[in-house]
Amino acid sequence: MIDVTEQKQRVAVIGGGISGLAAAFYLQQEAKEKKLPLEIVLIESSHRLGGKIQTVRKENFIIERGPNSFIDNNNSMAKLVKDLGIEDQLIRSEAGQTYITVNEKLYPVPAGSILGIPTKLSSFLASDIVSWSGKVRATCDLWFPRSRVQEDQPLGKFIRRRFGKETVENIIEPLLLGISAGDIEQLSLQATFPELIEMEKEYRSLMTGMKKALSETSHDDSKSIEERSFQTFINGLETLIEALEGRLIDTTILKSVKVESIAKAAHQVTLSLNNKTSIAADAVILATPHLITQKMFAKQGLLQNLQDIPLATVATVSMAFPIEAMDESFNGSGFTVARNSDFSITSCSWIHRKWPAFVPEGYALLEVYVGRSGDEAIVDLSDGEIEKIVLQDLNRVTPLKGSPLFTVVSRWKEAMPQYTVGHTQRVELVKQELYEHFPTMKLVGSSYEGTSLPNCVDQARSAVDELLIKLFE
Ligand SMILES: Cc1cc2nc3c(=O)[nH]c(=O)nc-3n(C[C@H](O)[C@H](O)[C@H](O)COP(=O)(O)OP(=O)(O)OC[C@H]3O[C@@H](n4cnc5c(N)ncnc54)[C@H](O)[C@@H]3O)c2cc1C
Repeated sequence: MIDVTEQKQRVAVIGGGISGLAAAFYLQQEAKEKKLPLEIVLIESSHRLGGKIQTVRKENFIIERGPNSFIDNNNSMAKLVKDLGIEDQLIRSEAGQTYITVNEKLYPVPAGSILGIPTKLSSFLASDIVSWSGKVRATCDLWFPRSRVQEDQPLGKFIRRRFGKETVENIIEPLLLGISAGDIEQLSLQATFPELIEMEKEYRSLMTGMKKALSETSHDDSKSIEERSFQTFINGLETLIEALEGRLIDTTILKSVKVESIAKAAHQVTLSLNNKTSIAADAVILATPHLITQKMFAKQGLLQNLQDIPLATVATVSMAFPIEAMDESFNGSGFTVARNSDFSITSCSWIHRKWPAFVPEGYALLEVYVGRSGDEAIVDLSDGEIEKIVLQDLNRVTPLKGSPLFTVVSRWKEAMPQYTVGHTQRVELVKQELYEHFPTMKLVGSSYEGTSLPNCVDQARSAVDELLIKLFE
């Protein structure tokens, strides 16, 4: 058992992904700025920090096994990056035409589509991606009344009511859900896209609301908001992890140590570790995936509702080619696949076009996703089998000459939390239950209030602020 030092309050952060690292960083920063008597311990079960952020730097290529960029909607990432002093390493994606395969055929995304919602009527009407009857139905959004549903509802049901089945299936679902692997019929409107509820309340029409949002952010509506704002670092996302680790000088970092259970002990809590030791702490930030967190409280039978948050399984497949292998007539930077296409792949990015800095001159890098909710079996195949299926699908979209120089397959089993209908209330109840039993514990991470990297940073920042008030005021 590690002793508690003098009057210091020990805060344990469990999990060294972006959520846990950001929490430890802000704890350390606050302790320094406000001269708080804090001792911070970060416990990570793996031999490395970063969790799902994993950059492979191989033969002058930069390959992301997991997330590859972020959209900093709330500026929380900009703030963290500035605090870390790595703004000069930030890069923005090169905008390019994106496509969707609908019934196995490739269509350009109509200009002005934001999250798949058409805002430029002329380009939507000129596109062949939806039939004329589908287009007429979609324009009903302009005059349809507001939804009267007060409680949470499936995202699919809400959007289909405004735009009709075809536009949702062919454009909105593939772009809105992208790589999140979710099922639009199960996902919660409130937890995934609450801004759509607000938009409908304010403008009635989502097309009008989106157009307004676009005009407020830029005067150039030829590109989508997403195209303008994807960011990463010149040496890949792991730059962020390396910078955080480098700055955590006043934090004790324990790697390859797993927290197995948590129990109350007088005025503190005891964390039991897999190395048969334990740590006493005054406060805990739980930044582990929700099912792992739930198991830590198995003895007390707490947080059972976390089991109701489903997880999707995907794999990313990065393939390097000589540039001559690419079909020159394809001018896109990537495509997503509508569910009505008979493909195993769900999206593909031309990394050499989106992020030229990641690929050496004369080469191409494709990043393909396979697997999504209800269609995950492919992830269990061998690397060779996955590669074969991916190449077959790609060749049906845009022919490739020859085989890849190398392929990196990364499996993400049960790694993507799905915010199904009722998610917000479910998380609220779980948090209440935890705080009743453990008032100085916080839950943060992609299982709760947003899965994007900036969402994780945001949750960490709020958890630190709330915890420090509890501990010192
Ligand atoms: C394939 C994929 C692509 C994605 N793409 C994007 C993207 O492009 N942009 C974007 O914004 N988001 C993306 N996301 C989402 C984003 O990557 C995640 O939401 C985010 O990285 C989660 O961070 P986290 O710290 O909450 O969890 P994690 O990264 O999962 O970290 C949890 C940590 O806890 C550790 N741990 C587990 N058990 C224990 C234990 N018992 N004791 C101690 N430590 C433990 C783990 O080893 C891990 O390091 C993607 C996710 C995936 C899977």
